[in-house]
Amino acid sequence: MPEPDIVTRFAPSPTGALHLGNARTALFNYLLARRAGGRFILRIEDTDLERSTDAYLAALVDDLRWLGIDWQEGPEVGGPASPYRQSERSALYADFQERLLVTGAAYPCYCTPTELELSRKAMLAAGKPPRYAGTCLELTAAQRRDRAARGLAATLRFRVHQGAEVAFDDFVHGPQRFATDEIGDFIVRRADGSAAFFFCNAVDDALMGVTHVLRGSDHLTNTPRQILLLTALGLLVPAYGHVSLIVGEDGAPLSKRHGATSLADLRRQGYLAAAVRNHLFRLGHSGSEQGFMDLEAMAAAFDTRHLGRSPSRFDQVQLDVWQKGAVHAMPDADFGAWAGEALPATLDPVTRAAFVAAVRPNVVFPADVHAWAKIVFGGLPSLSEAGEAVVRDAGGRFFDAAAGAAAAGGGDLASISAAVRDATGRKGPALFKPLRLALTGLDHGPELAPLLRAMPRATVRERLLRYAH
Ligand code: GLU
Ligand code: ZN
Repeated sequence: MPEPDIVTRFAPSPTGALHLGNARTALFNYLLARRAGGRFILRIEDTDLERSTDAYLAALVDDLRWLGIDWQEGPEVGGPASPYRQSERSALYADFQERLLVTGAAYPCYCTPTELELSRKAMLAAGKPPRYAGTCLELTAAQRRDRAARGLAATLRFRVHQGAEVAFDDFVHGPQRFATDEIGDFIVRRADGSAAFFFCNAVDDALMGVTHVLRGSDHLTNTPRQILLLTALGLLVPAYGHVSLIVGEDGAPLSKRHGATSLADLRRQGYLAAAVRNHLFRLGHSGSEQGFMDLEAMAAAFDTRHLGRSPSRFDQVQLDVWQKGAVHAMPDADFGAWAGEALPATLDPVTRAAFVAAVRPNVVFPADVHAWAKIVFGGLPSLSEAGEAVVRDAGGRFFDAAAGAAAAGGGDLASISAAVRDATGRKGPALFKPLRLALTGLDHGPELAPLLRAMPRATVRERLLRYAH
């Protein structure tokens, strides 16, 4: 059912390569909006100016587009809530921080890092969970003026009233309750004047009209603070849902030692966007759809009720199955760009088309294309001892006939195999195995008929004559 009022967003920080977990979050938010005919926003959380770079941002935009995700509002597109980079929204944040200050919902805190650390240790020693002790909440107006006059830098802290509860219905994890006694007064503006993550993130969701915040479960415990903030500001609180993290096969959070962890890693290895999408779609989203799906089908099938609560396993084997399917389904026109330098640039169009048609069912990565190009267009193959034995057993007459047919006829499999059958009486594997071994050096690979259409005639003859009398 269309719900055009649904607004989702992906809010990455451009401080590194787009991680697979975040790519999945982006995909889910895109699908949630698309299914409803709503809007999907890309917002750049680049308030950490030291770690955020334009290069990471450009790579992020490029990665998302590669994955097939586009946004109705955000960088390069614009929109009613512009700008979409948090580094350009400081004035807005200052405005809302001021409101918190004047209403007493927040107060300046002059504690130094050393004082805070001491207090933290004291609480831990007393067996209490460490949180801000509320020291500066008690300051009188005069004491504040005095500290400000001494030039002490203040952070702005949001006041969390104790003895209450924040409850919300997480659309993945179900009902949640957090006691405010567990939440200390938290910083909304740092001493250098910059706005804290919790704050910008929540305020922007409200200002951008986001209705559904779907993000990683590492943010679940931030949510009560963000709800308190938005409520204090009289802003609309979105619905929150937290998806499970992606883990490696061993159950540990996905990290470098598992291999690829970013979208860029997978792109470099030659994975196709369609394959990556199909695997990501199934990570943490269960459904009955088995086959290969395009984005439209995914959007139609996406349902927040199917989002899992437990970690989802990244499965290289499964990804490779999708990759095979994606290579198979890829239009001929895209094959060249995907294979890149693995496809020899010197092939004439007819040979090239024949080669692609022959090897496509047998390749998963551009490296496989390269390997087959070497076999088909390179020098004489070297056979294993076992392969050599099979070819010798077939005998000189076998290859006399084969080479003769290759020279005389169209050089196609039908005429070669007919000639060999007439000369030797061999058929089936006894016929095709020695042929394949002589032609490719291997006992497996693409079907012989299309392979022969791709292999230069002179090469075919040379390889067959090698084992003739
Ligand atoms: N910038 C935050 C992150 O990348 C956004 C979290 C959120 O989606 O609310 O983790
Ligand atoms: Zn303080």
